[in-house]
Amino acid sequence: MMDCLFCKIVNNEIPADIVYQDDKVVAFMDINPQAPFHALIIPRKHIATLNDITVADCETVGHLQWVAAKLAAEQGFAEDGYRTVFNCNSHAGQTVYHIHLHLLGGKPLGWPPYQDTLKVNLNN
Ligand code: 5GP
Ligand code: ZN
Repeated sequence: MMDCLFCKIVNNEIPADIVYQDDKVVAFMDINPQAPFHALIIPRKHIATLNDITVADCETVGHLQWVAAKLAAEQGFAEDGYRTVFNCNSHAGQTVYHIHLHLLGGKPLGWPPYQDTLKVNLNN
């Protein structure tokens, strides 16, 4: 995918603060962190959204979660806890259309993430 921002990071065409990589995935720090530690873990393969995952991608998607747990342990917040999130399409706020697992940790995290939106939805 020529115009995909995260494919460019995979291909070293634009810089990123890479914290882990292997033959399947790359993990790098989010440019606009929402927690003391906020990384994005992505497959090397371009997959636009969660809706585009095939059964052949399942091992790679599970691998993203394994890398998240590994990074959490390395960062020292695995026991305190952390959050992993995939946003899918516009209602979830997806802005980059190459799937990415957010890993947020290092402080107590609020839940639900968008209280006002949730209230509106519950009242409708
Ligand atoms: P989404 O909203 O699609 O789930 O998340 C996209 C994430 O990518 C956002 O948290 C945003 O801060 C991050 N992001 C956008 N552009 C860049 C970039 O050029 N470099 C890095 N490291 N993160 C980016
Ligand atoms: Zn891509």
